[in-house]
Amino acid sequence: MKTQILVIGGGASGMMAAAAAARSGARVMLCESGSILGKKILATGNGRCNFSNRKIRPADYRSAQNGAAAQVLKNFDGKETEEWFRSIGIPAAERSGCLYPRSMQASSVRDALEAECIRSGVDIQTGIRAEEMAALSRGFRVIVREYVPNRLPDRDFTPNSERITANAVILACGGKASPKTGSDGNGYALAASLGHRIVTPVPALVPLISGDPICRVWQGVRTAGRVSIYTGRTPERRKKAAEDTGELQLTKNGISGIPVFQVSRYASGALAGKQRVQAELNFLPDSSRDRFQEELLLAAHHKKWQIFSWLHGYFPDRLCRAMIRRADLSEEMPMDRMNEAQIQRLMDAIFSFWLDISGSAGFDAAQVTAGGVSTREIQMETMESRICPGLFFAGEIVDVDGICGGYNLQFAWSSGYTAGHAAGENVRSRKKNRQNDTP
Ligand SMILES: Cc1cc2nc3c(=O)[nH]c(=O)nc-3n(C[C@H](O)[C@H](O)[C@H](O)COP(=O)(O)OP(=O)(O)OC[C@H]3O[C@@H](n4cnc5c(N)ncnc54)[C@H](O)[C@@H]3O)c2cc1C
Repeated sequence: MKTQILVIGGGASGMMAAAAAARSGARVMLCESGSILGKKILATGNGRCNFSNRKIRPADYRSAQNGAAAQVLKNFDGKETEEWFRSIGIPAAERSGCLYPRSMQASSVRDALEAECIRSGVDIQTGIRAEEMAALSRGFRVIVREYVPNRLPDRDFTPNSERITANAVILACGGKASPKTGSDGNGYALAASLGHRIVTPVPALVPLISGDPICRVWQGVRTAGRVSIYTGRTPERRKKAAEDTGELQLTKNGISGIPVFQVSRYASGALAGKQRVQAELNFLPDSSRDRFQEELLLAAHHKKWQIFSWLHGYFPDRLCRAMIRRADLSEEMPMDRMNEAQIQRLMDAIFSFWLDISGSAGFDAAQVTAGGVSTREIQMETMESRICPGLFFAGEIVDVDGICGGYNLQFAWSSGYTAGHAAGENVRSRKKNRQNDTP
């Protein structure tokens, strides 16, 4: 089979890239290993697809190379994205900056993107997985195989393979997060086979795990709080890596919720580098410790409270129990009997609760991957490889990850549009050069 542009991976970034390349007039084939395009989109935003955000800033994206995402986000920004989606039948609804389709259904976004690919003339091939790639003097040869996941216990592939030649290739295979949606990290091997360096992929936007038995006490609690992540080779050399505030979810084996998601990539990265990771939890982030201590002393002095019954007005029961246990006190202890050391231990349990983090819930539970194809080897103005001309990248396969709230899909759209458009230009200018060369 022959095509001008082959897009490998039919997720958010691949569909956008294919549509943009086809709109520029190129012949485009989109190959997706799953049985449908855009399976992951269906799971986004709890089935509602938070596809962008009106507050996006380049500083909300992380990469081994600072500021790597800025140019791409400028090429096709939030405003253009909103317009583009409107033009394919997806008007946006805003909730605190987050953009959703007006239908509040992720399937509308997936369906509209697929329809746009079909309308633009993209040749869509599903159930086909790219297995090998080679750069030729002009273009690429890609070996694809029919792919039927779990067809047999030990073989996902049928023996039918085929060779596709293409003038340009866009790699949009995603990262390693949520492999059940098709992105199992095999795209890194394809990129590496053409000489690209891969920044170690780690799970991000993911719950964090702790072996601390206190988690059994607080499991099931949702409460306001601030989480700060500290990393370092030794406790003495630990440094604050990130912090976020919002609704914490305290689980039977650790911590979760949006603020934990936001800081999780730093914990995952440090753990992968064999550093010690600790979370400091502040359960009263809007109060001053001194003022709260005054209230506590007043209660102890005047009202003869027991610790649990007093704390219980501030925090959910299970959290009170965890705090009291952490402070090494008893629930029935009268507050006026607390000595200074005991008061400080209780204050620490409220304002500075330390938890050793031993891991994350892994790629299965992660929303995105931090790490991927090094941006130093990509011209971010066009998403073309610096190492292998004619090869382009889009989406999560690249070493860029955004915070929670529509930022990662925005990067998929911006990088997909950039890569598709630039690949179209690339094919057109090569064709022109060939025509000029012909006597
Ligand atoms: C549960 C969940 C909720 C999320 N919610 C949001 C949200 O609300 N807002 C937001 O901005 N982000 C969200 N994200 C993140 C966002 O979905 C991803 O960052 C984005 O979809 C990445 O798009 P992509 O095209 O790069 O990769 P993917 O969507 O992973 O697509 C890659 C595609 O490539 C295919 N593929 C892989 N290898 C091959 C191969 N060799 N040959 C052929 N095909 C191949 C895969 O089957 C897959 O379909 C969420 C993620 C998850 C898991």
